[in-house]
Amino acid sequence: MTAMDGPVSDALLKMGRHLRSGTVSPDLRTLHQVGGRQADAFYRDRWSHDKVVRSTHGVNCTGSCSWKVYVKDGIITWEAQETDYPSVGGDRPEYEPRGCPRGAAFSWYTYSPTRVRYPYARGVLVEMYREARARLGDPVEAWAEITTDPARRERYQSARGKGGLVRIGWDEAVEIVAAAHVHTIKEYGPDRVAGFSPIPAMSMASHAAGARFVSLIGGAMLSFYDWYADLPVASPQVFGDQTDVPESADWWDASYLLVWGSNVPVKGLYHLLAVVLGTIVGVATVGGMAILIYRRRTVGPVFMATTRNDKLMYAVLALTIALGLAATVMANLVGGGYDYRNTVSPWFRSIFYFRPEPALMAGAPLLFQLHALSALVLFTIWPFTRLVHMLTAPVGYLTRPYIVYRSRDEARPATRRGWEPSR
Ligand code: SF4
Repeated sequence: MTAMDGPVSDALLKMGRHLRSGTVSPDLRTLHQVGGRQADAFYRDRWSHDKVVRSTHGVNCTGSCSWKVYVKDGIITWEAQETDYPSVGGDRPEYEPRGCPRGAAFSWYTYSPTRVRYPYARGVLVEMYREARARLGDPVEAWAEITTDPARRERYQSARGKGGLVRIGWDEAVEIVAAAHVHTIKEYGPDRVAGFSPIPAMSMASHAAGARFVSLIGGAMLSFYDWYADLPVASPQVFGDQTDVPESADWWDASYLLVWGSNVPVKGLYHLLAVVLGTIVGVATVGGMAILIYRRRTVGPVFMATTRNDKLMYAVLALTIALGLAATVMANLVGGGYDYRNTVSPWFRSIFYFRPEPALMAGAPLLFQLHALSALVLFTIWPFTRLVHMLTAPVGYLTRPYIVYRSRDEARPATRRGWEPSR
């Protein structure tokens, strides 16, 4: 890490200014380009890449999501969620896409100027330590003098929370930490040293190294949740295990769910509105169909103009609407609920992508499958029925007579164009 930070790397960075068009800011962190297409190059370069690798994220995270990392010249340019997880079966949502906003922003803070890359220590403490270290010649004695002197101790402890951190070298940082450990063990015993480690799923090596060190010196090893202070307490308290174990796929196996600490209504609201509004609209559509068919059968001229294909179309249309309504009512109002957005919807979309995925429909309830089948029959026959008029631009409606049946009485003259008697 120190090798990246020095006069050589600074000189290389500064030299790079002369190789790029545009104006580089004095701190070498921003590049300004002005002009039309030339300035666009910046945007195109931003998203260009020479390879895509598979990776995940390991900062305070289990790293359970698979990401495609786009790399150019060894630099991460951006990331996208991978979607090729194995199927978990048709009775529960698939994992993909899987990832969180923090992960999506990972490539940004990997190179962020605010990322902590060096050791920092409280300035007042470093001043006192360096003075004592130079005078006493021993790190442990220097630390002991500072920490056992109430006035000095108060100086650095009361500075906490007020900033004042200064960058120090790795050697000095490690020496201070080691001196503090040795002093504590000498004075109070090894079991007064309590250690944290990174989350094991983040880095087994870091976790194992920290845990082994604390164990070997006889210290007390704490959970990484004590460090992060983000432990969702209920899982270990209720089930006796850590929180990594359950995941949302387990909801499908649960017989009883107690959910808190998340905004469940945001997800449930869509479903609720879809079911309630869908049912209302479905009932209204069935009512409209009944009126339409009644009129077509009972009004003579309308019935006379009805072809065999139209009758077939009415039957299939009514069946499709009835099956859709029945599927919604049976699955969501009578049954335990069914989220078609994970099966029926993506299957329907896949047809338009010309990459049909029939497997998505395999686990859908029978009524949804029949509804889809009936709809496909309707789509097949509609060009041969009066439904084809739905593709007609209704421009003529703006000027045509408001009634399409005209008098045969030639004695009645047309009052305006389009009202001539029919012959
Ligand atoms: S996307 Fe989020 S949850 Fe997934 S590995 Fe990355 S940081 Fe962790």
